[in-house]
Amino acid sequence: MNAKDLSIRLQKAAEFVPQDARLADIGSDHAYLPVALMLQRKISYGIAGEVVVGPYKSAQKQVAKYGLENKIDVRLADGLEAVSLSDQVSAITICGMGGVLIRDILQRGKEKQRLSGEERLILQPNVGERQLRQWLISEGYTITNESIIEENNKVYEIIVADKKSNQPTYTDKEIFFGPVLLKTKAPVFVGKWQHKLNKQEKILNSLHQSDQDVAEKIREVMQEIEWIKEVLADAGK
Ligand code: SAM
Repeated sequence: MNAKDLSIRLQKAAEFVPQDARLADIGSDHAYLPVALMLQRKISYGIAGEVVVGPYKSAQKQVAKYGLENKIDVRLADGLEAVSLSDQVSAITICGMGGVLIRDILQRGKEKQRLSGEERLILQPNVGERQLRQWLISEGYTITNESIIEENNKVYEIIVADKKSNQPTYTDKEIFFGPVLLKTKAPVFVGKWQHKLNKQEKILNSLHQSDQDVAEKIREVMQEIEWIKEVLADAGK
């Protein structure tokens, strides 16, 4: 196994892991990410954290298959309880979950003093990117990189966050689209928002027909449609 055996989504997340990192991969079903990175000598130490017994055992098996038991610890734990400050983790990956779940794992980890603030966060939410960015920014993180990829007809965003001394100010629009993604406007990004525009327009139509009090929701969807149209116009679409 090497990095090429990873899904495109995990390969992209792996690219943001710094050379020689001490990595904690949380929600590490099969431990694919730490094992691949250890085999390519990109990380010096790994923790594969899993809360569910089945995936935890799969992670143990994968680590044993490559004889990496001395270099990767597989731990059965909820979220960041898999790590302690003495592990001196320098990068954390949390991939393949909803953004709100990732945010809650980070928040609980912060409350339980599992984050030193020195570690790079590499996050791949399947949905709920905005809520996750909101948390990162309110906690003083700088979004230092982002990427967007398509695999098996699904679009995935990867968000990289580091604590820096001078945090930039972010607009609501940047938090919504992703500050780096908004600047780059890659073709996958443009495609995602073209698709989303159609969906939001349909939602707006049905909201207009609703007999409930949906005025706030209508305002929110209209704002999003306006932003999406601006972004697509900027991208020449
Ligand atoms: N990270 C892998 C990937 O991206 O391919 C696996 C993604 S899988 C969809 C999500 C994994 O996260 C599952 O194995 C699940 O058991 C685990 N998980 C969910 N909540 C967790 C938590 N609070 N702490 C640790 N693991 C968790």
